[in-house]
Amino acid sequence: MPVAEIITIGTELLLGEILDTNAQYLARALREIGIDLYRKSTVGDNPKRIAEAIQQALSRADIVLMTGGLGPTVDDPTREAVALALGVSLEFHPELWEQVQARFKRYERQPTENNKRQAMLPAGATAIENPVGTAPAFLYELQEKVIIALPGVPREMEHLLQNQVLPYLMAHYHPGVVILSRIVHTAGIGESQIDDLIGDLEGMDNPTVGLAAHSGQVDIRITAKAASTQAADQLILPVIGRLQERLGAWIYGLDEESLEVVAMRRLAEKGWRLVIVEAGTQAALIRRLASFKEQLASGHVLGSLPSEERLSELLHACCREQQAEVGLGVVIYPGSEKQDVRFLLLTPAGMQRFARPYGGPPQSAPRWAVNASLDILRNL
Ligand code: AMP
Ligand code: MG
Repeated sequence: MPVAEIITIGTELLLGEILDTNAQYLARALREIGIDLYRKSTVGDNPKRIAEAIQQALSRADIVLMTGGLGPTVDDPTREAVALALGVSLEFHPELWEQVQARFKRYERQPTENNKRQAMLPAGATAIENPVGTAPAFLYELQEKVIIALPGVPREMEHLLQNQVLPYLMAHYHPGVVILSRIVHTAGIGESQIDDLIGDLEGMDNPTVGLAAHSGQVDIRITAKAASTQAADQLILPVIGRLQERLGAWIYGLDEESLEVVAMRRLAEKGWRLVIVEAGTQAALIRRLASFKEQLASGHVLGSLPSEERLSELLHACCREQQAEVGLGVVIYPGSEKQDVRFLLLTPAGMQRFARPYGGPPQSAPRWAVNASLDILRNL
């Protein structure tokens, strides 16, 4: 298998001012396309030290992936560092300069003389056009090896990686191979519990199985490599079957299916309409369900935190007034360590209570409460 190293550039990374999320993103992407990652390093904005890091990485790896340091200022050192590492000069590319100017024009800004630096590339490099920002990225092919320099801004880096770099790496290092990912969505079960149930599947090579938690909802991504999309799907389907056997009703959907669509579909099947009363949640549930006008009879946001008794009274009153069959009350009571999230569910069968402690970051509590609410509704 080809071997890669990642070098992230930026003094702010070394100072601990920002997290190196680019390295994490790149590492996952490489894993998914079957490229081994042997080392990650971070270097400050110093061309000499970056050049050394590049030379060392090239002596060990086939692919050197870099992010950052492609901006227009003197302390954006990546172009110079690559030229230094390879012993080539920097060349001005008039066509890149035109692209930079055109992009500035689109943002109704004037490029400065400094921006001309962004049209410079080490002699022999190939530009990677950047439609989502101003800094052109580039790659440098050296016989069997390649250096790829991407912008530091995560959104730009991810866009170029997905649309240009991964297809390039696949074509060069895995010709004739297709990578396919499918996602199994779960709710109502935690990441570690899933881990316990499917740990053996997470150790597989092809397809690979990985978890991604999103506040009250966990995705399982299954990625296969094969000679065709169809063959990759054939590798994935039995794994989806095993996940269904083990996780059963915790699974609510596949791929593009969302929790709110599944929950509202359940209400539609029952022919029921919903009233929501929420407090301490930044109206997150009502906002998430705003487009489901047929199922949502009304939504109320309380300015203060109600007692359970008061919440119950409100649900009864609102359901009566709206002639709705289901009332859901959600309240986040702040706590010093854990937040107390309470749910009251009124259905034709009566009132049910759910209390769930939430111990994650406070700013994610509303999202967590919404996912837990939708999980309750999809199980009606
Ligand atoms: P640069 O291309 O080095 O000018 O980086 C532009 C911006 O992207 C920086 O100010 C950071 O906010 C962000 N950035 C750069 N490198 C990283 C990284 N490795 N991980 C996350 N964000 C980054
Ligand atoms: Mg920088």
